[in-house]
Amino acid sequence: MKAEIILTGTELLLGEIVDTNSMVIARLLRDIGLDLHYKTTVGDNEARIAEVLRHALSRVDVVIVSGGLGPTVDDVTRQAAAAAADRKLIYSPALEQQIAARFAKFGRKMGENNKRQAWIPEDALPVENPVGTAPCFIVETEQGSIICLPGVPRELEHQMKQAIIPWLKEKMGPPQRIKAKILRTCGIGESNIDRKIDNLMRLNNPTVGLAAHLGQVDVRITAKAPTLAEADALIAPVETEVRQRLGDVIFGVDDDELADMVGRLLKERGLQLAVVDTLTGDELAHEWRKTGHADVVQSHQQFGSAADALAASALDPGLEASVAASVIAQSLSRAGALGLCLIGPVATETAEQASLIALAHNGNVSVSQHLYGYRADEAGQQWLAAQTLNQLWRALKN
Ligand code: ATP
Repeated sequence: MKAEIILTGTELLLGEIVDTNSMVIARLLRDIGLDLHYKTTVGDNEARIAEVLRHALSRVDVVIVSGGLGPTVDDVTRQAAAAAADRKLIYSPALEQQIAARFAKFGRKMGENNKRQAWIPEDALPVENPVGTAPCFIVETEQGSIICLPGVPRELEHQMKQAIIPWLKEKMGPPQRIKAKILRTCGIGESNIDRKIDNLMRLNNPTVGLAAHLGQVDVRITAKAPTLAEADALIAPVETEVRQRLGDVIFGVDDDELADMVGRLLKERGLQLAVVDTLTGDELAHEWRKTGHADVVQSHQQFGSAADALAASALDPGLEASVAASVIAQSLSRAGALGLCLIGPVATETAEQASLIALAHNGNVSVSQHLYGYRADEAGQQWLAAQTLNQLWRALKN
């Protein structure tokens, strides 16, 4: 269910008083999980209030109106609500008695103008107001409900808490549970994912959204339902569809970490890593430490530049970069250890500046080139660490 708040009052519109009622209403709606989509302020004008009410009814299920229920001629919410709901205003002797009783309680006599407050739209549900004189009411229409409340903050808060929230809860039915499933991807950009699943990202329940991290993108599928099992059932077909469209870029779900998956695969296969790295600073090592797999690293040599890495391996500095990376990775690879060589920035046949990740095992070498270039900052290092983990995961998972 969606809601809109309409604040009436020329003083509010012109900034002469500060609106606090909508804050109270919004928080109470939030607490019961009713989605607030709009908040509109309008002056004390019957035609304009009726107009914003009609507009609200066209886009939400519940409209909560604050103010304009007093006894004076500029209190026109009753008339506007009746007009928007296409109802007559009906005089209610019971309401007049209620109002008179409130006056009597304070030893005062009800004025003639207070009788105006006993008029409400036909078939509206009167809501007793024990803290003020203006009776509140709810008009139910085919398009949605209009709930009219007093503007006086103390009265409004009391009525919201004591009468309206219980009424709304009843109307909303059993509380909704929210469940989210995250599909974690690597090796594909956010805009590329967006192109593949853009129509799914327009769904209402479940909703599908993206969250980009460095080198990885999460696809979050979130459903709302009376039970978690029903939320799961809403998520399942959408998850299947996302998996079909994205294929093997999805490496895990929810809290899965790529470094952990790679670490576990290495251990299952009795393998370690022998690394030469000029690209990721401490980021790759940090990933292993974070996921409890620091012991997968058999050796780790770090160099300040690709030239230093080549020199340490006694390679000709003029050697084509991807050949050099392959040779270094192969020289590191041995029984029980994958050779991993990360160098950059280097010129390659197709790019002036690139980073290369070479992975060697059992005589096979795969080299990937990353045109994101070489960024010697933390973000660049994290991004390249993610690419390295992606390449390792792809090599190991089959
Ligand atoms: P009453 O029962 O007193 O006649 P009403 O329903 O006619 O109230 P208004 O006349 O619109 O409501 O507002 C009464 C007073 O409540 C305003 O003068 C203002 O001080 C305060 N008020 C109205 N709207 C708000 C608001 N959104 N936030 C804070 N205070 C408000």
